[in-house]
Amino acid sequence: MEQPTGQPEKKQIYKKMEAQTIPDEILEAMSLKNRYAFVNANMMSILNDNEKNMFDKVQRFCLKYEKKNTIMHNEDFYPWIKDFGVEHYVTRSQSFPEVGVDHGEKDGLAMEFMRGLAVDMFDPQFNMAMGASVLAINPIKHHHDNREPCLKALKELVTGEVAGCICITEPLKGSDANHPDTISVRSADGLKITGTKCYNTNAPKSKYAVVYGTTEPAAKDADMKMTQSLVLLPDPTVNIERTFIPWTPRIWIGKETFKETFVPNERILCDVGKGKDGLFEGLVPERMGIAILDVCEAWGAFAFAAIYANLRKQMGQEIIKHQGVGFLLADSWAQITNFTLAVLQFCRSYDEALKKYGGKLPGPLAMALVASASQMKYQGAILAERTCYEMANVMGGAGVSDNTLMQDYLGVSRIQEVVGGARQIQLYVISMALRKLWSSSNR
Ligand SMILES: Cc1cc2nc3c(=O)[nH]c(=O)nc-3n(C[C@H](O)[C@H](O)[C@H](O)COP(=O)(O)OP(=O)(O)OC[C@H]3O[C@@H](n4cnc5c(N)ncnc54)[C@H](O)[C@@H]3O)c2cc1C
Repeated sequence: MEQPTGQPEKKQIYKKMEAQTIPDEILEAMSLKNRYAFVNANMMSILNDNEKNMFDKVQRFCLKYEKKNTIMHNEDFYPWIKDFGVEHYVTRSQSFPEVGVDHGEKDGLAMEFMRGLAVDMFDPQFNMAMGASVLAINPIKHHHDNREPCLKALKELVTGEVAGCICITEPLKGSDANHPDTISVRSADGLKITGTKCYNTNAPKSKYAVVYGTTEPAAKDADMKMTQSLVLLPDPTVNIERTFIPWTPRIWIGKETFKETFVPNERILCDVGKGKDGLFEGLVPERMGIAILDVCEAWGAFAFAAIYANLRKQMGQEIIKHQGVGFLLADSWAQITNFTLAVLQFCRSYDEALKKYGGKLPGPLAMALVASASQMKYQGAILAERTCYEMANVMGGAGVSDNTLMQDYLGVSRIQEVVGGARQIQLYVISMALRKLWSSSNR
């Protein structure tokens, strides 16, 4: 932003800042480099060597990227996905040998956590949007059956060449995702989809959309007739509007109206009756992805507040030395560290189980993981929202101004409870799992 003549020069750490209120030395102390150094010190005793290396590698990339491109965190970040994709930093949750992207031991949920933490501290809205592309990647990975159009989509998405989205939610069907109003009409050569989807992250910027429908929306067992299709965008039969979410203003979320959109056989991922399984198999990675995002947001906000509180002085001393501030930070620190250990343990166990069972988890274990992933997502979303709010609050005016990324943390953390199944739905899943666990242990 150009400064009017005679005005003092602003520290352009974030261009979106209109008037700088945080002193230069504190603003500089909260640079990405210093926030990484602070979180690294926290992670020293927690991470193993592979995890540390991954975290460090992505940090170095983000630091260079921020500097080289003079990133100000107010710009359109969609073109960045390509640059991160070249380095295979769109996702590290699994390997994609079928499209030549395979890092062996360096892929898995724990590595994804490391990638996510580094990228989220760089730019939380960008990380969240890239995560929605991964939601499209997972079903294509599971159901490509070596068909060329699906492999092409997988490669383009994994390497960040293009963005993707998933279209589950509809104006009248949100939590009840099993019973879409969108109709899929089957013919010998493919499917025709008609219906409206909404709140689909990245949709207006996507080349690929994974879309759910059912052949009989009015039927009681509509869920047993569900389909999962890969739609190529833009398409003249799909009208896409932007749904603006003020808490995440840089993420493009869409409302799409499909009018007899044709999906050829070679792009049907789950045929009639198999769509529900397709929907459910993505739930554990999606919910864990959100839990990871939550803990990343908590660390990101905490790093800002901890550095700020150690430097900002009021009434003759650094604010961290005032007990009210120090104890609040201590309480948040304990919560974030404990939750990090829990998420990391889940990630490592999940990776080990997949390795042990050759990628296909046995039923009871898969069931147990569904409950754990919901538990993590449920508490992670609350932790992120509370931490980001408290960290902004404890920074006083600086935390709620536009001088840092705290605004982004406040915004993204507020939607975590809604996305990927709202709070009550997670509690419903957990309570059902509790009932099943009781009956299976009580035989
Ligand atoms: C920023 C953002 C990004 C999103 N990205 C995507 C995306 O990429 N793809 C996609 O398909 N969707 C996406 N969504 C949609 C999101 O998954 C839904 O908003 C969510 O599932 C809730 O659906 P709904 O909004 O229709 O709320 P509703 O289902 O109408 O729920 C409203 C309230 O009722 C409660 N409720 C509903 N049913 C029950 C029940 N049986 N018992 C108790 N309480 C209940 C809910 O917990 C909630 O509090 C996104 C949403 C947002 C805000």
